[in-house]
Amino acid sequence: MTMTWYDDFYQQSFLDNLKKTNTHLFLSQQGEGAEYLIEDLIKKLLCTNLRNQDPCGSCPACNHVFDEHPQIRILERSPELKIPVIAIDQVRELTSFIQLASNGEQDKKIIYIKEADILNQSSANALLKNLEEPSTNTYFILNSYNLAKILPTIISRSTLHKLPSPSKKESEDFLRDQGQETSIKFIDLSGNKPYYAINMSNQTELINQIVALLLKGKNFDMMSVNDNLLTNGSGFFIEILQKWIHDLAYFIEFNETLFFSNLKEKVGLISKQLSLKETLNFYKKLNEYKKLSETQVNKSIALDALIIDYKRIFI
Ligand SMILES: [Zn+2]
Repeated sequence: MTMTWYDDFYQQSFLDNLKKTNTHLFLSQQGEGAEYLIEDLIKKLLCTNLRNQDPCGSCPACNHVFDEHPQIRILERSPELKIPVIAIDQVRELTSFIQLASNGEQDKKIIYIKEADILNQSSANALLKNLEEPSTNTYFILNSYNLAKILPTIISRSTLHKLPSPSKKESEDFLRDQGQETSIKFIDLSGNKPYYAINMSNQTELINQIVALLLKGKNFDMMSVNDNLLTNGSGFFIEILQKWIHDLAYFIEFNETLFFSNLKEKVGLISKQLSLKETLNFYKKLNEYKKLSETQVNKSIALDALIIDYKRIFI
């Protein structure tokens, strides 16, 4: 079973539309599977012998591994740079690929930019030069999870495709179908993002450890705070904390939980010991922490300071 929430994008009509313009920008939420849809679409664009709308698997274009395909250039964050960015050198390296003569249907070329939002000003400008006069057989496929961060000049030159999010049922059906039953209980915590839920289920032990500590509330034992909690990065720890605080405050207002639905009773108990004002203040502070963890080169955070702030929300 495919990702049913993308059904419209698996249709022949979408592929036909895709061929009509050269630059496409896909927008979605991370963890919903857009990268798999896009890979599939690129394979379809290149296959010269589609069968029932699927790549045939045996034509010359289908005979290459995606990441090493001679007709595809992939631009992604360079791992050696600590700040996520697509550098201008990466864009410049495209020039010869783009300028290589391309004749006819069999010579399609794809430039796939995995995160269009991490193009900086100079790399975007270099890319734009290429977008200005694309040859008909060259396609720029851009993916992004953050429209707000994409330069307007890139947006204005692209055909936008806003991908829909899965419903909860679609996510659950998909995970079941993929043999990922254990990930289903992470659907709420993932924010209904099936691929993120799979990722989280691989972190079950860590998540349990974090939640067990948070459940102690005011009695949070500082001795148990250690860097193991940051195994998956400080951003991840803060995200779990944000969702936890969200649910504590949400429960006070609505008697419901959004993310920790399996712990509703415990969230209810602990929310009785809270100062709502302090909780909301802490929530705001966490947003700042989250931004810092995303932008700073030094990603380590003062975990104990964060936990002391957490303890303060309890009366
Ligand atoms: Zn093929």
